Amino acid sequence: MSNKNPIETLYDRLTTTFENVNEQSKKRLEQYDASQLSRRIRIDTGSFSGPSSDHNSKEIVLNQRFLTLIWCITYIIYEVTANKTKTAKQVTANYMEIDGQDPEVKQMDWLFDWAFKLKTGGDEQWPDGLPNPATTTETVRIVNVIFIDAITYIMYHEVAHLVNNHWNSFKEIAQKKFLGFDLTEDEIILSKQLEQEADTFAYESLISQDDSDEVRYHKLFGMIMAGLSTLFAHPKGSKLNDEIHPGSHIRIFNTRLRENFDEGNQFRLNRAMNTGLSMFCKLHEIKIEQKKFAEFTELLDYLFELIQAHADEKLKC
Ligand SMILES: [Zn+2]
Repeated sequence: MSNKNPIETLYDRLTTTFENVNEQSKKRLEQYDASQLSRRIRIDTGSFSGPSSDHNSKEIVLNQRFLTLIWCITYIIYEVTANKTKTAKQVTANYMEIDGQDPEVKQMDWLFDWAFKLKTGGDEQWPDGLPNPATTTETVRIVNVIFIDAITYIMYHEVAHLVNNHWNSFKEIAQKKFLGFDLTEDEIILSKQLEQEADTFAYESLISQDDSDEVRYHKLFGMIMAGLSTLFAHPKGSKLNDEIHPGSHIRIFNTRLRENFDEGNQFRLNRAMNTGLSMFCKLHEIKIEQKKFAEFTELLDYLFELIQAHADEKLKC
């Protein structure tokens, strides 16, 4: 058996997808490539960190532990949403409990614990017997596609920082923040605007006018999963609402509002959001009341408010 980390089996597909999203994005990359973007992706195998762009080398930097965590969270949210809700106990109209004795659920608990520890230096060796990107099951095949869409979105967000000269506007703010100085109101607004601009750029790079409803749905699903799994990647001690970034929960809901789908796809997206946000609340001991909601969107708004109420607190894990 090779010692290759299973996540590495996706790197070629990741690069190919990133470079071939559609004709318009390809042209964008070619233009930038000629001027300022090297179009190189650097995989960082060091300790856990979020995605970033290197403004000197013009590389997109993706941390292997981050990618692994994102894959695992995507797997769990997808599997719970698509399959485990069928056998869940319906407590109220909007609230169900997953069967904790189900061997596959136990396996997902284990997968979560292992992946979550990667943030703080846990062993990177993928435990035997747990689902991984190189496993040949139908669920893994689907999860790999969602994961690649999610990371492609994250990569185009970084492309935006590289090609739109964000660093010029941002470097003084970053320096001030690094040295521990307070930022002015204008600096806070500017840095959040740059982040939102990068999200919009990434969305516009991935979805084109000619895409069918089904393609748009799949791409948006990937973007939502990028946001949901990123919630879990926030470092311990950080806040969801920091001074520089709009909170991940805010970005997920902004993404959600970009498209409308038919009832079935809308329902599947909402259900995935419900799973991811509820998991986040459970992890951070944010109590979800078993209220009744007439509409799915009311339940999601309720979860948003719950998380928003804790977004200025330091995360405990
Ligand atoms: Zn950014």
